[in-house]
Amino acid sequence: MLRKRYFLFIFLLLSGTALSDLDKPVSDGPYVFESENQREAISICSDKKLSKVIDYHTAQQVEQCKQSVVLQSKTPSKKNLLNYQGNFQVAAVSDIHGQFDLFIELLRNNKIIDENNEWSFANGHFVITGDIFDRGEKVTETLWFIYQLEQQARKAGGQVHLLLGNHEVMVLNGDLRYLNPKYVKVGKLLDKPFETLFSPNSVLGAWLRSLPVLVKVNHVLFAHGGFHPDLVEQKLSLSRINQVFTENLVKTELEKPRSELANYLHTTNGPIWYRGYFYKNGANEADIDSLLQHFGVQHIVVGHTSQKRIETRYDGKVIAIDASMKLGQYGEVLLIQKGQLFRGTLQGVKVPLIPTKTPIISPRK
Ligand code: ZN
Repeated sequence: MLRKRYFLFIFLLLSGTALSDLDKPVSDGPYVFESENQREAISICSDKKLSKVIDYHTAQQVEQCKQSVVLQSKTPSKKNLLNYQGNFQVAAVSDIHGQFDLFIELLRNNKIIDENNEWSFANGHFVITGDIFDRGEKVTETLWFIYQLEQQARKAGGQVHLLLGNHEVMVLNGDLRYLNPKYVKVGKLLDKPFETLFSPNSVLGAWLRSLPVLVKVNHVLFAHGGFHPDLVEQKLSLSRINQVFTENLVKTELEKPRSELANYLHTTNGPIWYRGYFYKNGANEADIDSLLQHFGVQHIVVGHTSQKRIETRYDGKVIAIDASMKLGQYGEVLLIQKGQLFRGTLQGVKVPLIPTKTPIISPRK
């Protein structure tokens, strides 16, 4: 036993996790599961499992262990509308990785939400280019917050576009390598493989399965990783890319193995993994121009490859918005107002985004 604990300690030390992380009591949830007539909400409250059955038709509000959630009245259908145009402001954030408090601070200071964490962005469109999951310890809080913000935005005439990142797809597929130790413990306490907390019969699982992998808003194209020049060569449209990607989301739920195209879209050069805008031998200027022309956009906005702040590449044609919120110290939001680009800092200062002429080569992360 002592030997086992010693090895566990060494393992945790090497993986950068303190043993105390697993020992401290955790609270998490709710995870809401639907059957034909009812919903069951389960939570962990200071290491204890709570369970409650909710009437499907009457109760929209779930409150468990101080977390209160307003549920949508029906399971969301797949978002097939991928192109939005109009006279509204646009904001975009990426790679939150469970840093809920920092995310809230950033959105409040930039007036996307108010003091009560409710939508205050009027008819604006707020894009989140994926990676809510993994690393940090407030993933569930972040998911429920965005889930509810989406409903508030719609009521106000605005929109929240949450896009899938590689960490969403990893967790849904049971690849739990980057899970915060808290969630490893949650899985154990609930006696369930962690990914089944997001199975298709769960409210959050069904919602995640309804999300797209890309969106185009006022001639700006958003995705987590980016678009490989191959896609132009293959003459693929945005709706085709999104359709093949989302129809092949969770391997164990597919009737037949992923096709060649589905495999391509779910691996290195696909929209959630691609990093070719940031490294030598990646996309060149001509590739970027043909991508912009093919998809009918002026900019491509991506997360996934971390920067210190929001930056541009290829003379502003590519905008990198992962400002390393995952480190828990700082974050930025991209703001687009009347065609002008700004960095919204954590403190809420609006700084014009100056296009960089030459691509900067960043270290791989
Ligand atoms: Zn990523």
